[in-house]
Amino acid sequence: MSNVDTPNRDLSLLAPKFRSAIEAAIAECASNNLPVKINEGFRSQSRQAWLYAQGRTRPGDIVTRAPTSLTSWHGYGLAVDVVHATKAYWPFGRWEKRENEAWFAQVAAFFKKNGCNWGGDFSHPDTPHMQWGRCTPSPTQNARDIFRSQGVQAVWAKLSAA
Ligand SMILES: [Zn+2]
Repeated sequence: MSNVDTPNRDLSLLAPKFRSAIEAAIAECASNNLPVKINEGFRSQSRQAWLYAQGRTRPGDIVTRAPTSLTSWHGYGLAVDVVHATKAYWPFGRWEKRENEAWFAQVAAFFKKNGCNWGGDFSHPDTPHMQWGRCTPSPTQNARDIFRSQGVQAVWAKLSAA
């Protein structure tokens, strides 16, 4: 569970209101013939550092622009990455790219309806990424300061996600 190469899918580590939102969105996706699952939720500092190294100091494609867990909302339990429940629908892969983009946009509509923002709308698109709608695109210095001084629950409270 704490291996850096393994995504954490424990929804109990997410902010409570964000968790409720994504569970509602997943259910709505399922009833609209869009089966999805969470590939990754909360991300530890050690895993974020390992992912950041990929494509930089370790072989592979670059998968994140965030050097530390406090520069990604995953590190606060306020972001998840959503993928097809059974098929290999990934943003960085080579499979049916255009079809996948249209599929992700359909999925994202249900997450947006439930109060999330979609990484596909970012200036550097991150197609499977969904985060709490009250979050700025990336964590601000203020969010990092609150996390360090008061803990993650204070950040959740400030963003009405507690
Ligand atoms: Zn993400």
